[in-house]
Amino acid sequence: MLKPALLFILALVTTFNLHAAQQPYKRTLKLMGSRFDITVVADNEAQGEAYIDWAVGEITRIEKLISSWDPNSQTSAINANAGKKPVKVDRELIELIQRAIAISKLTDGAFDISYASMDKIWKFDGSMTAMPDAQTITNSVEKVGFQNIVIDSEASTVFLKKEGMKIGFGAIGKGYAADKAKQLLIEKGVSAGIINASGDMNTWGKQTNGNPWKVAITNPLDKNKVFALLPIVNSAVVTSGDYEKYVTFNGTRYAHIIDPRTGYPATGIISATVFAPKAELADALATSVFVIGIEVGLNRINQLPGIECIIVDDQGNIHKSDHIEIEKP
Ligand code: ADP
Ligand code: MG
Repeated sequence: MLKPALLFILALVTTFNLHAAQQPYKRTLKLMGSRFDITVVADNEAQGEAYIDWAVGEITRIEKLISSWDPNSQTSAINANAGKKPVKVDRELIELIQRAIAISKLTDGAFDISYASMDKIWKFDGSMTAMPDAQTITNSVEKVGFQNIVIDSEASTVFLKKEGMKIGFGAIGKGYAADKAKQLLIEKGVSAGIINASGDMNTWGKQTNGNPWKVAITNPLDKNKVFALLPIVNSAVVTSGDYEKYVTFNGTRYAHIIDPRTGYPATGIISATVFAPKAELADALATSVFVIGIEVGLNRINQLPGIECIIVDDQGNIHKSDHIEIEKP
């Protein structure tokens, strides 16, 4: 017969062992047109794979709702009925659009999901030989304007007032999907993980060694140089800006993110990294900072509690918001 005390110790050891056996499991796959790396902490491989399947299911579900490429998505139905009639959609989509409009208001229209209505006059694949003329640029944003997205919350409908108007979730969708996948896994009892959508990181819990998840911030001008290593504790970090996608005219470098108010591409910034409790907000703000520029961008970010930002300008200089602490790698 085992003594109760011994039994207790045995139980403790068993619990400890079970815990020690937890391992990270990772899967890389293409979702929403981007590379996703999903990492979860689990007791064994079968459990890890099952957890990852849940995350993939959730991201796929959201992609079906918000994709503008899928002609059967609710988003495509809204776009197809622009200037014609309101379209009834899921509550979830209404709320996502409402939050996107709130960010438009916060950024004076620099962020605008109706950017998708722009004429595609800029190409960033090296094929452009001359800058479009001023009139063409002005005309290209004629149909853009979040003020013309009409939501009837009670009827759960969305109406785009202008014919030819479109909305797109390119700057917020990946973040939203990552938040939802994370939320689902937390509800299912998964203790820790990372949803990494092409470098946009969203974490919860800790690494199996007890340390927080860390993200390396590289200088986009020199991908081999990590200039900061930051712990990401139950929060998200999103970087905007593809340093390879730009076009140069008269010595000015134009980035692939276009100011929806003017039709001109953003200038001066190579990358904007935003830290926030939620990936959706980080995603939207990273794109916004790109458009509003270094000074206004940092100013806005400094006014938002719990949100920080690192900007690399086109000279390779690094600019930070007020409360960010960088741990040297
Ligand atoms: P990345 O291309 O690195 O993912 P972002 O997260 O900033 O960069 O998203 C850029 C995408 O956001 C564009 O490809 C486009 O789909 C969309 N977009 C571009 N400009 C705007 C804008 N001003 N407001 C909202 N969405 C935008
Ligand atoms: Mg973004």
